Amino acid sequence: MDRVLAFGCHPDDVEFQAAGTLILLAERGWEIHIATMTGGELGHPTLPPQQIRARRLEEARRAAESIGATYHYAGGHDLEVQYDSPYRRRAVRVMREVDPLLVFTNPPMDYLPDHEETSRLVRNAAYIASIPNYDCGVPTTPTNRFPYLYYWNASSLTDIFGRPLPLSCVVDISDMMGGKLAMLRCHESQREWLAHHNNYDDYTEIMRKRSERQGQGIGVAYAEGFIQQRSTGHPQDNILKEILGELCVELPGAATSLPGRHT
Ligand SMILES: [Zn+2]
Repeated sequence: MDRVLAFGCHPDDVEFQAAGTLILLAERGWEIHIATMTGGELGHPTLPPQQIRARRLEEARRAAESIGATYHYAGGHDLEVQYDSPYRRRAVRVMREVDPLLVFTNPPMDYLPDHEETSRLVRNAAYIASIPNYDCGVPTTPTNRFPYLYYWNASSLTDIFGRPLPLSCVVDISDMMGGKLAMLRCHESQREWLAHHNNYDDYTEIMRKRSERQGQGIGVAYAEGFIQQRSTGHPQDNILKEILGELCVELPGAATSLPGRHT
């Protein structure tokens, strides 16, 4: 088996949107890597950024460890993620370090610009990590392949205009919800922050409901939806279907929407 990299913006993005699929891949022998662009340093109502970053990096490391994954922090800062050279280099450093066959990241359309910029940076890194003359600032070995690239669903399961994203497939994670919840619970600092800032009574319940809504679209208890990048360079076939078989339900046509995904 090969390596998969789930590269999100914040510590907990992967746990909300793609952890069930990662656990399925881990069970099938894939080497799992989780990376975050930022240290989540603004995600607390009272602690100073340095303290909250240290706490959140440790939470992310423990969540990754719970499924045997390796955690990488790309070195960025909350609310500062830019499509610029320093951030491009950060993204490529992680991409070259892991050299994945399969990459997941935030979708290009989501409620927070940091998520969207991370999506662009990871997409770009997946494409340019193989360019020998691209200098990412530290000695690295260029990759020698284009990975499969998938975006997970938007945080609210819609774009900023309330429209469903054009998912290409949905993965049944019903049997993995226990492990997914356990990973998210490692991000204990977010219980307080998301209650304060996003008015969430229980952040793990928000994740459970999102997974449930995505499951309703394919008639299972819990699911995670993805959009595959199918443009120049990247492989066009759906490797998730090949690996996961009937657990991966392909949706015909990029504009297909799932019923029952609005609250
Ligand atoms: Zn986030």
